[in-house]
Amino acid sequence: MDGDEMTRIIWRMIKEKLLFPHLTMDLKYYDLGVKHRNDTDDKVTTDAAIAVNECGVGVKCATITPNEARVKEYNLKQAWKSPNATIRSILDGTVFRKPIVVKNIPPAVRSWKKPISIGRHAYGDIYKSVEYKVPGPGKAELVFIPASGERTSLTIHDFKGPGVIMGIHNTEQSIRSFAQACINYSLGEKCELWFGAKDTISKTYHGFFKEIFDHEVDIRKADFEKTRVKYRYMLIDDAVAQIMKAEGGMLWACMNYDGDVMSDMVAAGFGSLGLMTSVLVSPAGKYLYEAAHGTVMRHYYEHLKGNPTSTNSVASIFAWTGAIARRGELDGTPDVVQFARRLESVVVAAIEDGFMTKDLAVIAEPKVATYALTEEFLDEIAARL
Ligand code: NAP
Ligand code: MG
Repeated sequence: MDGDEMTRIIWRMIKEKLLFPHLTMDLKYYDLGVKHRNDTDDKVTTDAAIAVNECGVGVKCATITPNEARVKEYNLKQAWKSPNATIRSILDGTVFRKPIVVKNIPPAVRSWKKPISIGRHAYGDIYKSVEYKVPGPGKAELVFIPASGERTSLTIHDFKGPGVIMGIHNTEQSIRSFAQACINYSLGEKCELWFGAKDTISKTYHGFFKEIFDHEVDIRKADFEKTRVKYRYMLIDDAVAQIMKAEGGMLWACMNYDGDVMSDMVAAGFGSLGLMTSVLVSPAGKYLYEAAHGTVMRHYYEHLKGNPTSTNSVASIFAWTGAIARRGELDGTPDVVQFARRLESVVVAAIEDGFMTKDLAVIAEPKVATYALTEEFLDEIAARL
């Protein structure tokens, strides 16, 4: 799935410099660039998600989620929905993000020694909300009309003047498969499982998540004991405080919004958004790999002005290697898996040899004298490969 701006440029270079010379791939190409989404009334996004369900593995470039400014900038018919939200709602599943740990990029948090993986619940909450701008005085109600039986209504607020309301939801099935996916991941990787929510304030909504996690962990009690993996429930604010004192090495299961925000915090803490990988795993076992960062708009604008850029392509490369390795595992083609792992180790070795983009060069220890431009970095990787 192609994407937008700086990452679209990088995407093409990764394919041409690192992949096509070595692999013959039957790729199904979907252009999720914002122009083509607009031209197809966003049908291409749905088609791409369906293709992941059919093929089992996908890899996605970062894409613009249009806001009002983007609608003007690209002359769009409307502010199309976030492609990631559309894809996630079709595949359901859980997003796991894990930083790439490189020896000479020390984490900002001194105690962090091992990667912190984040499991983001990829369905519902504010990402599937209904919002309403309250124009003036009036009463807002939460109404549920059951398929059969009595309707229930609760007062949200008696507005004395203008305001705003939002309706969010989640489903038991989605929360349960999220909990199961996180449990599988933590038992598989033998890493502690953390889950944080705000059930003291949101006794029903957040409380429901906690209840389901407790239940699912209980079902797997024997496996937790056998692997000596621990499950910890914390209030979300406690979890945030604890993570800053921890050594790392855990899977931090997060509700949708917490995962969105905390994965950026953890990524920045481990060096750069350019070192954060991301994979959406559906309950049916379909995988969609991507970089955790966006389209790196600021760099793209510099590029358009004709200025050199130094954009980190590592997370995008690892999106490809993750997908290629998974493909190889599914197809039983170990050479393909090995190619992906080799490309990853070439990238890590290049950085450890002091060859890196600016985002990493400014935090590398020991210091490096120069940094590589976007294309220079990829050329170096291609040469080493
Ligand atoms: P961004 O693309 O993640 O970039 C934010 C800043 O982080 C950059 O300006 C840059 O900092 C740094 N950065 C991120 N990735 C980098 C990389 N690979 N190499 C070097 N530096 C990197 O977020 P944004 O600029 O706020 O958003 C741009 C667009 O991306 C938006 O339209 C948004 O909708 C979209 N987005 C898409 C996804 C997705 O498709 N998964 C995710 C998030 C955002 P400096 O400017 O300091 O160099
Ligand atoms: Mg985010």
